[in-house]
Amino acid sequence: APRVRFAPSPTGFLHLGGLRTALYNYLLAKQRGGAFILRLEDTDRSRLTPGAADDIEDMLEWTGIPPDESRRRGGDYGPYVQSERLHLYSQAASALLETGHAYYCFCSNQRLDLLKRAAQRSGLVPRYDNRCRELRPEQVQQKRSEGVPCVIRFRLDPGAEPFRDLVFGWTRHDPAAEGDPVILKADGFPTYHLASVVDDHAMRVSHVLRGSEWLISTAKHLQLFRALRWTPPAYAHLPLLLNRDGSKLSKRQGDICVQRFREQGVLPETLLDIVTHAGSGFSDNRIGRRLDELVAEFNVAKITTHSALLDLDKLDEFNRVHLQRRIEDEQKCAVLRDELRRQVLHTHGSEISDRTVLEPHYIHRVLQLRKGHVCSLRELLDHTHAFLWIRPRVTRQQLLEVSAEAESIAAAVVQLVASGGSFQSTERLNAEFKLITSRLKHTKYSGAMRVLRLALSAQQQGPSVAEMMLSLGEQEVCVRLQKALE
Ligand code: GLU
Repeated sequence: APRVRFAPSPTGFLHLGGLRTALYNYLLAKQRGGAFILRLEDTDRSRLTPGAADDIEDMLEWTGIPPDESRRRGGDYGPYVQSERLHLYSQAASALLETGHAYYCFCSNQRLDLLKRAAQRSGLVPRYDNRCRELRPEQVQQKRSEGVPCVIRFRLDPGAEPFRDLVFGWTRHDPAAEGDPVILKADGFPTYHLASVVDDHAMRVSHVLRGSEWLISTAKHLQLFRALRWTPPAYAHLPLLLNRDGSKLSKRQGDICVQRFREQGVLPETLLDIVTHAGSGFSDNRIGRRLDELVAEFNVAKITTHSALLDLDKLDEFNRVHLQRRIEDEQKCAVLRDELRRQVLHTHGSEISDRTVLEPHYIHRVLQLRKGHVCSLRELLDHTHAFLWIRPRVTRQQLLEVSAEAESIAAAVVQLVASGGSFQSTERLNAEFKLITSRLKHTKYSGAMRVLRLALSAQQQGPSVAEMMLSLGEQEVCVRLQKALE
């Protein structure tokens, strides 16, 4: 069974890009009964953000893709935080020194800066010139005993050996062009390359699924695996995730933080669906897949190399579909009812005149009638929906201004209610409305609807009149119509 890892650096809160990487790893693991590991890559101490590590794990839990192994959950291959595994990296670095695959480098920052500036002046890519490769053992000994600060570098083999990426196919990249990379820094912390390889080995990672920005590092990682005589995992790089217009995902990271969408009332399944929706990894790109369906339908072979475009303008649409699916699921609907009741009390609490609007059967009916129309529970609290919770104040005069026949329109509807039967469906009600208006002299259908809408909600917009009536129920409709004409 596969073992995969999501290996974020806790330099910021979880955003949609990270969520996508985590999700694809999760899908690959769950599809084949494997394990999903969360590993925190915190070796760059200068870039740590307080709270990021907790946020990342919290948000994975909230979206429903919690890791099987992590700092919080434990596991057989911990610790799951790189800063707690330093001895493993120095062991690996020592092994590489011993076999001649690595060497001490005493070059000062000043020298490295000079190299960099010289390269830039001649328009070249800065590269380390591998000077310390040539130091003789006595020289190394000497400098070490003098306590000259040093790093350890990995001796890269020149040449680009091709490797097969599960998404990008046969790939080649010559890493040596950049010069030998540092693997252990002067402070004893490893760099990303060493730590990543050591941990992928130690944690028995079978598949590395990560963003395509890491594709060019893979050649280096493969050389490290070979030098350490370890078997490398399989690699699959995910295409770039871009905005719909092809621009970089977000200039301000805060804009796409998972936490922020959560605060806005976006459902977790909406986020999972939208980050996979770019079509990559699935045979169709319909809207509305839930996690179990994502797991069942995901296919690594269907991941494409062209950029995945994230269309956040469609977020409402996705959320509408997923909200509807929740409402149609009896268990989930019960949770939504409680949530909506809480929100109604919170928003309209002091104005509620009739407590029956807080009863489960009423709230249930509202949800069933408005599903497919609203994109979030919150929408059910806005001014076009306030009529659901609060009896409006409308005067007879206001109604008469809309139509001189307001009185007979209202009376006809009251009578309709009394006769029973038509409160079954919007179709039945609409047919009755047509009949009622056909008997009016001066008012058209639309005018009659305006009268009723105003009497029931004190609004000029909102759900259809038939839907309003079905939500409110026969009794409340009569009360409001009668009150309006008092
Ligand atoms: N720590 C790296 C990151 O922040 C992980 C890259 C990888 O998955 O190897 O994206």
